[in-house]
Amino acid sequence: METKTEPRVERLTCRNPLTGAEIAEVRAMDVEEVRGLVAAARAAQREWSRRSLKQRAEVLLQLRRLVADRAEAIAHVIRDDTGKVMGEALFETAVACDQLKYLARTAPSYLLPRRAKTGWLSHRKARVAYEPYGVIGAITPWNYPFVISMSAVNTAIVAGNAVVLKPSEYSQTTGRLVGELLAEATGLEGLVAVATGDGQTGAALVQAGVDKIAFTGSTATGKKIMAAAAESLTPVVLELGGKDAMIVCDDADVERAARGAVWGAMFGCGEVCMSIERAYVAEPVYDEFVQAVVAEARRVRTSDEPEAMYGSMIAPFQREKVERQLAEAQSLGAKVLLGGRPIRGPGYFFEPTVVVDVNHDMALMREETFGPVLPIMRVADEEEAVRLANDSEYGLDASVWSGDRARARRIAEQLNVGTALINDHLINYLIADLPFGGTRGSGFGRVHGLEGLREFTRPKSYLEDRMTLPRELYWFEEQGSGEGTVGALLDFQHGRGPKKKIGGVWRLLRGLRR
Ligand code: NAD
Repeated sequence: METKTEPRVERLTCRNPLTGAEIAEVRAMDVEEVRGLVAAARAAQREWSRRSLKQRAEVLLQLRRLVADRAEAIAHVIRDDTGKVMGEALFETAVACDQLKYLARTAPSYLLPRRAKTGWLSHRKARVAYEPYGVIGAITPWNYPFVISMSAVNTAIVAGNAVVLKPSEYSQTTGRLVGELLAEATGLEGLVAVATGDGQTGAALVQAGVDKIAFTGSTATGKKIMAAAAESLTPVVLELGGKDAMIVCDDADVERAARGAVWGAMFGCGEVCMSIERAYVAEPVYDEFVQAVVAEARRVRTSDEPEAMYGSMIAPFQREKVERQLAEAQSLGAKVLLGGRPIRGPGYFFEPTVVVDVNHDMALMREETFGPVLPIMRVADEEEAVRLANDSEYGLDASVWSGDRARARRIAEQLNVGTALINDHLINYLIADLPFGGTRGSGFGRVHGLEGLREFTRPKSYLEDRMTLPRELYWFEEQGSGEGTVGALLDFQHGRGPKKKIGGVWRLLRGLRR
């Protein structure tokens, strides 16, 4: 099969989406350069992994101090890369600080080796050590360029790895800043290297001999990365796209649910993997909910002014995707109750948008939108809501809104997602101890929590003797296949009644004396 290769981009110009002004020009690194970074990272990792867990945790606390002290300057860099409002950019630094504190506090105990039970081999001692992979290739998106890169890098390094970070082509400046902060905190050049470039540089990183890939980005790219990583059997953790559903029950606090829905759908301009992208609302409260959502969404402001609640989209391609989905939905009968249009630039702003009369034939209800759009669908009851919520390629998060927690929990248990929330949305990302990740098209593997930490370690099993015997029971016997020993063991371990068990032990002891 003939494969087409795109012409390689040599340099990337990074622009501020709010003004269109050039903010940086970076080299798009090729395979050789990326391999060089991986080799240097491997050398730095040898020294880093010799430091104790406590020492590595101490470095994370130092990094947290750096981030907290410089939060405002960092937020400006994030804002220039992405066009976000300042509050949201600062929020990235706050969440990164929380995660650093969490990692520093938990890693020294969570990553300690654990004793393993040896069963009938009681003269043996076994343990499982959580050892670093070596060099992690972290590939990250533009929508939360600071916190997602920091999360992957810091979890990887506290576990003893080095990292080569490939930030999105739309957030190179933030990516480079992450590299600088890490170099300052660790004092080790090359432990966290930044490979600047676009998707081709990302593809080069997958083939550059790293020991694991931690990818956050779209489902389409995740599939390509997994296919490429399969060549060398490089393990991957994939944090991919979402199409989060919200279920509003007939006993929900409608006013509160409507406010939560508008925030959950429009926070960050809806460019959040876990944005609410579909609301399923029970018939008895549907009209009241829609009315309350429209009233709340009317209050939402978007611009580059300080009073704005969300900022610009990243680039024209994102705005065009939203327009395309809305146009298709309208051609199939959807009604836009509010917004629906881009706002004239500079910047790529989009109106807060509320849509009704939608169904699952529309891309707006099936594909990731990544814009400030809330489509609302009327459902007869909770069974229909669950069926529709699960009728998706994605499975990142979902939320249930109800006045009856037991009922909400029952519904939550039926949702095929990585995280199910009750009476809120998005906020789970802030809880550093809660594993985060998806099912189906939203990927696999977890970040955050104990599970996320262990994602960056390779469990290695150790077995040693507690007591040395002249020979082992299960070694070759002088005659035969060892049938007698195995039979005695079976009786001792699993035989019915004390007589069988005692008989088994007796035969084993006799065997040992031989
Ligand atoms: P993207 O998939 O276009 O790009 C992500 C990264 O992959 C970028 O650094 C890009 O340069 C790189 N890349 C592109 N092609 C590559 C290839 N062939 N090999 C290796 N690397 C390659 O995603 P995006 O537009 O930057 O980000 C938005 C997407 O990310 C959305 O789908 C969103 O839902 C998802 N996302 C998911 C999470 C999560 O935790 N699940 C968090 C944030 C964003």
